[in-house]
Amino acid sequence: MIELKGIAASDGIAIATAYKVGREIFDIPKKPIKEEEIPLEIQFFEEALIQTRKEIIGLQEKISKEIDRETAKIFDAHLLVLEDRMLIEEVILRLKEERLNVAYIFSEVLKKYIEVFSKIEDEYLRERVVDINDVGRRILRKLTGKEYASLDKISERVIIVAHDLSPSDTATMHKKNIAAFVTDVGGKTSHTAIMAKSLEIPAVVGLKDATSKIDRGDLLIVDGTKGAVIINPDEETLERYRQEEKKMFGLIKRFMFVKDLPAVTSDGMLVKVLANIELPDEIISAKQHGAEGIGLYRTEFFYMNRKDFPTEEEHYQAYKYVAETMYPHEVVIRTLDLGGDKFISQIEIPQQMYPFLGWRAIRFCLARPDIFKVQLRAILRASIVGNLKLMYPMISGIDEFRNANSILEECKGELRKEGLSFGENIKVGAMIELPSAALTSDLLADEADFFSIGTNDLIQYSLAIDRGNEDVASFYEPAHPALLRMIKNVIDTAHKAGIQVAMCGEMASEVKFVPLLVGLGLDEFSVPSIVIPQIKYVIRALSKKEAESFAKEALSYPTGKEIEELCDKKIREIIR
Ligand code: PEP
Ligand code: MG
Repeated sequence: MIELKGIAASDGIAIATAYKVGREIFDIPKKPIKEEEIPLEIQFFEEALIQTRKEIIGLQEKISKEIDRETAKIFDAHLLVLEDRMLIEEVILRLKEERLNVAYIFSEVLKKYIEVFSKIEDEYLRERVVDINDVGRRILRKLTGKEYASLDKISERVIIVAHDLSPSDTATMHKKNIAAFVTDVGGKTSHTAIMAKSLEIPAVVGLKDATSKIDRGDLLIVDGTKGAVIINPDEETLERYRQEEKKMFGLIKRFMFVKDLPAVTSDGMLVKVLANIELPDEIISAKQHGAEGIGLYRTEFFYMNRKDFPTEEEHYQAYKYVAETMYPHEVVIRTLDLGGDKFISQIEIPQQMYPFLGWRAIRFCLARPDIFKVQLRAILRASIVGNLKLMYPMISGIDEFRNANSILEECKGELRKEGLSFGENIKVGAMIELPSAALTSDLLADEADFFSIGTNDLIQYSLAIDRGNEDVASFYEPAHPALLRMIKNVIDTAHKAGIQVAMCGEMASEVKFVPLLVGLGLDEFSVPSIVIPQIKYVIRALSKKEAESFAKEALSYPTGKEIEELCDKKIREIIR
């Protein structure tokens, strides 16, 4: 029995066998070949190059048709790798000299190339590693006859063990028999962890060496609440965790009696509690847990795990379904937030040194109005069937907000001309997730209809911690005085301008922070569905007066640690 400690990413306990999914690893055996087999191996290699070329050209044509020719040109660099005489000749030469199977020789030459290019100082040349790696893998698949094993192939109930999982991988888990997942890398507010919470799949991330310690078929216990993974537990431990599992179900049920009651303090302050969703199906769980609307619909997942872009009609149908099902409650659609740790296969975003500081969210949408407008038109059209609002992610200041709105106005003009009906007065909000937006919230409040604070990014950007990096996860400090001052400023300026403030980052779902946030005057909590009843319970146990003096006291402490301890103490008094 071995116990590993990682980062608790999604609550719950799961007991099942391990299923390892790779970063695509080619374990290619070295096989001697006879002299007379050399021409055959060379022919085999040339065939693989031709097939790979066809595959890339096919991909290029498809992208050119579905997106544009400019984007398709990205693959020109891949084609150049295929024509690299030096690489091809080195493979053939070594094949003749060493008389080993071509798959092995090619994998060795590829490794050397990647190593050499990774060390080059010139940034342009160094970035070619990505192309070489990508094309190299395509060729290796042809030489080994291996298809890329994805989560789609899993049919038994298992615990996924992976070095890393992309948010789009995680999104496919909802239809699968996946009990839990554990990864070597990742942080608490990475989108992979957020997705796991929404799908109610226990998860532990940032374990560093889970993939080397765990073998396929090992029995695992995943404790997503404590961040522990136990490999091949003894009978006693197994029994203890079975009991824990039961207790946990009991805890979730304990607060369900308040799910349909309003979140009102004992002295009459009404707070709204809404759900965060990534996929339209999640509204079922949102309704079951008493959500008073959807405060954050992360629409980028709609673009994932498909080869083409969703059409306006597909967007429209999805938004219409969510709006109608939640009616009369509101649904806040967050426009496309790609980049950072979320990518789609339809668009190759160039590899960036710091993806979270790079081409992301509203920056991407403003640069690609052709993609942005498809979504905006659908939101506008769907807003007449329900109570839809929209908000832009990663707004840095008033300029970007205005630019996004002028594209929205263009869409309205087009729809008018086409005689299509839409909600003329749809409310438009700004996410406050950059320190620059938090510090200029007074300016934004004059033009935005509402705010939603995205603490995941606000913490990442103001405390300078990559939210996906386990090595800096311990610096994640929602109660840091800098954060609390920003949150207070946002709420105060918004209220002065007469608009409301929601919080949709993970901080809102950490029950211990509820008294503090209520005390600061937060109007809405938007959280994973499963915690809604518990949040309502805590709000109902508070008075506004008491929460306000608690927030005042908390703000007087100089460190996040002390403030968090104060919050822990307070919540223990409320939930015994
Ligand atoms: C946030 O940043 O807090 C947020 C809610 O947006 P996302 O997690 O999708 O970046
Ligand atoms: Mg964000």
